[in-house]
Order: sequence, then C-alpha cells, then structure tokens
Amino acid sequence: MELSRATSPALDAILGKTFKVLDDGFVRVVDYMGNDTSIVQAARVSYGDGTKKGSDDEHLIRYLMRHLHTTPFEMCELKLHVRAPMDVWRQWVRHRTASINEYSTRYSLAIDAARELAPDEWRAQSTTNRQGSGEALPPDVGAALTAEEKEFHAAARALYEKRIEAGVSREIARKDLPLATYTEAYWKCNLKNLLHFLALRMPGAAQYEIRAYAELIGREIVSRWVPAAWKAFVDYRLEALSLTAPEQRIVPLLARGDAAAAVDAALSLGFVRRQDDGSLKVLREGAELAAKLPALGLSAPW
Ligand SMILES: Cc1cc2nc3c(=O)[nH]c(=O)nc-3n(C[C@H](O)[C@H](O)[C@H](O)COP(=O)(O)OP(=O)(O)OC[C@H]3O[C@@H](n4cnc5c(N)ncnc54)[C@H](O)[C@@H]3O)c2cc1C
Repeated sequence: MELSRATSPALDAILGKTFKVLDDGFVRVVDYMGNDTSIVQAARVSYGDGTKKGSDDEHLIRYLMRHLHTTPFEMCELKLHVRAPMDVWRQWVRHRTASINEYSTRYSLAIDAARELAPDEWRAQSTTNRQGSGEALPPDVGAALTAEEKEFHAAARALYEKRIEAGVSREIARKDLPLATYTEAYWKCNLKNLLHFLALRMPGAAQYEIRAYAELIGREIVSRWVPAAWKAFVDYRLEALSLTAPEQRIVPLLARGDAAAAVDAALSLGFVRRQDDGSLKVLREGAELAAKLPALGLSAPW
C-alpha cells in the first residue's frame, strides 16, 4: 500500500494565523498531524477492512463517534499556541491529557498584560447557579469597577517591577501578580481528548471566558481540520441530548399529556418537592429535566 502524508488544506491555510480571544488573548495553530482519513485508516486496520473511499468514510466516522469507538480519533494531533489569562488557564490545565509547555515567569519577566473588563462586561452572581454569572451589572457600577481594576493592575505591576529592580528573583517577585495576568503556552492534544475538552468547555455550563477559547478552537479550527469528525461530534455529542433512567420514567408521561402522573413521578423521584402551601419546589434534577424538554417539544408541569 502506498502511503502519503495526510494533510488538511483548509487547516494549512490558517497555520500561524492569530485568532483573537477576549481583550488580549489568542489561539494559533502551530502544527497538526492527520486528517479525517487518518481516523478512517486506523479504524479500517482494526476492522481488517482495507481502504475504501468516499461517503463510506464519513459514515464510518459517524459510526465511531456514536458508538464511542474513540481510539481512531487519537491518530490526529493538534498543536496550538495559546495566550490566556491565568484564571482561564487554571481551568484549561485541568484537562490532563494534553502536552503543555508554558511561558516561565521564573525564567522570564511576567507578560505585561492583564485581562481588563469593559464597563459592560461585569456580570452579577447568578441567582440560580452558584458557579455561574447572571446579567450584566448596571453601567455606572461597571464603569467604577473598570476604573478600580485599571488602578489595581497598574499598582500590582509597579510593585512587581520595583521588586525586580531591587534584585528580587523573578520566581518570588511574581507572587502578587493578579490572576488576570496573561500567560502563553504550547498545547498539544490528540483529537479524542480535544473533543472531550470541547464537550466540557463549549456548553453554557462552562465559564464564558474559557468557552470563548473552546468555541473558537471548535468552530474555527477543528471544523476546518477534520470536517467529518467535527460534524459527527456536533451531531452525536455537543448537541445530543441524553436522558437519565429516572428522566425516562417521567418523559413518556409528559409525551402522552398526563401532567398529573408526571408530577407524581417527579415527586417520588425527588425532582420536585411539595411545599407547605401546596406549591412545588423545583429541585436540581427537576430543573435539569425541564431544560431538556423543549428539545423534545415538551415542557415541565412544575
Ligand atoms: C462546568 C465545569 C465545572 C467544573 N467545576 C469544577 C470545580 O468546581 N472544582 C474542580 O476542582 N474542578 C472543576 N471542574 C473540572 C473538572 O472536574 C475536570 O477536572 C475537568 O473538566 C477535566 O476533565 P477530565 O478529567 O475529564 O479531563 P482530562 O484530564 O483531559 O481527562 C480525560 C479523561 O481521561 C481520564 N483520566 C485522566 N486522568 C485520570 C486519572 N488520574 N484517573 C482516572 N481517569 C483519568 C478520564 O476518563 C478523563 O475523563 C469543572 C469542569 C467543568 C466543565
């Protein structure tokens, strides 16, 4: 069998291009290995199926994605150069299956840039999600917060530079720099683990800031690089809906229009609780199911 290097002309066209994220961050593709065909080739080896062509390939990729046959996706690798604020980076590095080399603030001076929010970017604490944000704060409050932030960042940087001038080592001088300070890294990940990262960091439950990076990597980079795998990922993971076993006991009742039976089931499953005044308090699983129902053309009776 004659082998040639698998390339992706659409990704080649954006190699090295800087995609801006947040106020001063970016993502750039440094290098990659493989393309959609590499996934197919590896899968066919495992099936002893030789090489085929055309639409068969796309069907096979979609089959692999649906059935979590994930190792063929490990045949593709992507290497990115990223610049992100340290608070975003702290979430990013939780994804342990990537190879990382980060800018060293022991060796070099810390990057002189920290993420700053515009007055309309200050989000209030969410009232429904203890980990999330709600609406933007009023403009006058936002303007005051932005002014204070500038002052604080300037003071933190001035203190850092004063320590450096006084001869303090870089590894000690950096200790009071804000988490908003930008860092840079090379981040290399295979496609299987990259899709796992995207599945966790693209949905609304992830913080807006890391979502901005994940959205860009998914929609601008992965979609060009491995279009068939990307489409299968969107169809079968990113936009897929899963129902837990308890949810499957309630949904058929709602589908046949029996709201009273659905509420009884929700009460017995702990999705909702009856309060002293007779009203229903929606508990966590009740809210989670309610969020899924519109996709099924249904709504929650609580
Ligand atoms: C919305 C959201 C909220 C979060 N909130 C918090 C929080 O409050 N606090 C917090 O600490 N973290 C939080 N995290 C981080 C989260 O718990 C995971 O650490 C992170 O998403 C990385 O996921 P992962 O371990 O699956 O990925 P990876 O580290 O990339 O691992 C990929 C897969 O490899 C396997 N794997 C890797 N290492 C091991 C291991 N040592 N043992 C067994 N299997 C392994 C697992 O199957 C894993 O799913 C949050 C993440 C999200 C998306």
